[in-house]
Amino acid sequence: MRKNIVAGNWKMNCDLPMTQDLIAKIITELPDTLNCELMVAPSHPFLYAAFNASLETPIEVIAQNVSQHENGAFTGEVSIDMLQSVGIQTVIIGHSERRNTFLESDQELAEKAKAAIENGMRVIFCIGEHLEQRKTGNHFETVTAQIEKGLFDLTAKEWKQIVLAYEPVWAIGTGETASPEQAQEMHEHIRKFVADKYGDKTAQNVSILYGGSVKSSNATEIFAKPDVDGGLIGGASLDATSFIDIAKAF
Ligand code: PEP
Repeated sequence: MRKNIVAGNWKMNCDLPMTQDLIAKIITELPDTLNCELMVAPSHPFLYAAFNASLETPIEVIAQNVSQHENGAFTGEVSIDMLQSVGIQTVIIGHSERRNTFLESDQELAEKAKAAIENGMRVIFCIGEHLEQRKTGNHFETVTAQIEKGLFDLTAKEWKQIVLAYEPVWAIGTGETASPEQAQEMHEHIRKFVADKYGDKTAQNVSILYGGSVKSSNATEIFAKPDVDGGLIGGASLDATSFIDIAKAF
C-alpha cells in the first residue's frame, strides 16, 4: 500500500539551536491525527539531536544525502553506517542541488541508492527536469531516464524501499509551482513507466511525492491529484506552522 508522505528538506539552513527549536515547534503543533507520514531532514551534524527529539513522536528524522562508499578515505563524506548509528533509516538521494551544484552523476546516484537499499534504508529518490527541457517538450524523457539510470538495476522487492520525488528544477525555491495538472500528468507518466518495467503492483505501491514551492495555500489541490502521494518541502518546511498546515492538507 502506498503511503502519503510530507517530508521537510531543511537544506543548509539550521544550526543546532535552530534545529532543536524547529523540531520542538513542529512537535507542539502536531495534531492528534495526521493522514500522512511526516519526515524532516536536518543537516548531518544535528541528526542525532533531532532523532532524539523525535522519539515517541510520529516524526521521522531523515538525512539529506549519503555516501555510496562503506568507509575509508572519503574526506567530508558520511556513510550509511554512520547515519544508521544515529537512528536514521531514510535518506534523500539525487536532490537537484546534489545533481546540479555538486555534479553527482546518474551513475553515482545509482550507486548511492543501491548501497542504501542493500543496507535496509528507505530512499527518497529525486528526479526532475530543467525549464529548457520542459519548454522543448523533453520533460517526460528526462525524468524517465533519471529513473531508469538511477533505479532500474534494483529488484521489484528492493523497490518497496523506494519513494520517488518529482521536483521540476524550475519550481524549486523559485515560488513557481507546477500546476496540479502538470504534477498529475508527470506522476501518472512515472507510474506507468515503473509499471512497464516492474508490473502494476510495484507501480501502485510506490509513493510519488511532488516538490517545488509547495505551500499551505497550494498543498490541498496538489495532494488531491490521484497520483500525488505527498510533498518534499523546502522553504515552507522551515516554519513549523506552515509545515504542519501542509501535512494537514491530506
Ligand atoms: C526542495 O528543495 O526539495 C524544494 C522543493 O524546495 P522548495 O519547496 O523551497 O521549492
